[in-house]
Amino acid sequence: MSYVSKVLDGTCPKCGGTKVFKAKGNPFLFKMPVMNERCSKCNYSFHREPGFYFGGMYMSYALTVAEMVAVFVLGLLFNVGFLSIFLAVVLVVLLLSTFNYRMSRLMWLNLFFKEEDEL
Ligand SMILES: [Zn+2]
Repeated sequence: MSYVSKVLDGTCPKCGGTKVFKAKGNPFLFKMPVMNERCSKCNYSFHREPGFYFGGMYMSYALTVAEMVAVFVLGLLFNVGFLSIFLAVVLVVLLLSTFNYRMSRLMWLNLFFKEEDEL
């Protein structure tokens, strides 16, 4: 399985058996995604060490900026007013917040996954 397919699939980086997140979260209800502690199939720990996902914030930042730029460029291409572009950027960032949270953590987890990890 490639890095991209592992991240998009959202399953355990070691065995691909269990989903890393047990709840996807909902930005409308202010519910954040919830991670499983360990893989139920191979017992791989998704909480590697305290502060492990701190670096995932940079992934989240990169995703958010890319989405903001994409919406901004689309707004310019369709010749929409700046206030409408601003509101669209804010709306897209809010709606994709839980998606970005999950993707950034999955990207970070898979980035530092090593086959020999015993945890
Ligand atoms: Zn597993």
